[in-house]
Amino acid sequence: MGLVLLSEYNKSGLKQGHVVAKAKRRFQHIFSHDIAVDLGTANTLVSLNGYGIVINEPSVVATNRKTKKVIAIGTEAKKMVGRTPRSIIAAQPLVDGVVSDFEVTEHMLKHFVDTIHKKHRVMVSRPRMIVGLPYGVTEVEKRAVEEASKSAGARKIWLIEEPVAAAIGSGMDIQEERGGMVVDIGGGTTEIAVLAGGRIIAAKSLRIAGDEMTEAVSDFIRDEYNLLIGERTAEKVKIELGQVGSSKNIKTMKVRGRNLLTGLPQEIKISSEAIRKPLSAQIKPIIEAIKTVVEETPPELISDIMERGVVVTGGGALIDGIDKLIKQEVQMKVVIPDNALTAVVEGAAEALKNPKEYNRILMVSEK
Ligand code: ADP
Ligand code: MG
Repeated sequence: MGLVLLSEYNKSGLKQGHVVAKAKRRFQHIFSHDIAVDLGTANTLVSLNGYGIVINEPSVVATNRKTKKVIAIGTEAKKMVGRTPRSIIAAQPLVDGVVSDFEVTEHMLKHFVDTIHKKHRVMVSRPRMIVGLPYGVTEVEKRAVEEASKSAGARKIWLIEEPVAAAIGSGMDIQEERGGMVVDIGGGTTEIAVLAGGRIIAAKSLRIAGDEMTEAVSDFIRDEYNLLIGERTAEKVKIELGQVGSSKNIKTMKVRGRNLLTGLPQEIKISSEAIRKPLSAQIKPIIEAIKTVVEETPPELISDIMERGVVVTGGGALIDGIDKLIKQEVQMKVVIPDNALTAVVEGAAEALKNPKEYNRILMVSEK
């Protein structure tokens, strides 16, 4: 393509310099190193301009407790959760969507940027970066994300609130006056926002999401069967059997752990019916929060949302029956986009293509 372009311009009698400049402009995305990051509590996704999503790994870093040396990051580190000897900590750098350990977060970001560099052989030094973070984080928390991004090499940083990014990523035109509502159920936080005219009209972030559902499953199995199971097993049970509302798609699975009474290993069979109650107990406050946001929304916008449907994204959107349950509870149509798990990073990448257009909603940091 580039060669054709060059020869064509040569024929038309343009000077070589012009040709190169023109070709450079045409392929500017290759030189502009724009990176969008969804620094999720459960998963970190990175999108590189011109390449799409290049990183999609658990936000987990395994470090040596004593030396603080990093042993593994991402998928490798997640495999260690619950399996590590005492000397190794497999930690999530983000707790409740917020940087809990600055150095570890910085390390993870740097590692992912380096990985892109190696894998795609593109120069991503000094990239322009956009990072998604939960709605309503404090200045201190914003600063921590900015600092970590800067240390990872970013030359200019924009911050975008996750529900805004999720809305853009799911295809909502947030600039139009028509209102839209998005509910992003992640690992550590659930973010609810109503958007219109390029602004957030009403929003709420609550620290109840997928992690609490996993914990509820594990607590239930311990209390009901005296069986102690690991966090990763509990998450598997939740993902395979989890269902809420009127969904009646009964499934079962075998679960192994340690019996608390005998101290011995045990295998039991769990059904989706059994974990319905503990899961629903965690969904309840999420539904309540959606209702609160609806109450704060101007009626004209409610009418828009009714027409458009409430967009639900994040890992929590994949729970069997959640769409019907929300619909029934808030009396509005519910839409789960195909890219529910990647909408945030895709929306952030989209905003970074034209940050001026989104100036009412992006936070910029330049240094
Ligand atoms: P974050 O943005 O906080 O990193 P994600 O949007 O990636 O979170 O969602 C991760 C959460 O979604 C985890 O708690 C995970 O267990 C949960 N999850 C993923 N898939 C499913 C599923 N099919 N059913 C229920 N929960 C799921
Ligand atoms: Mg998320």
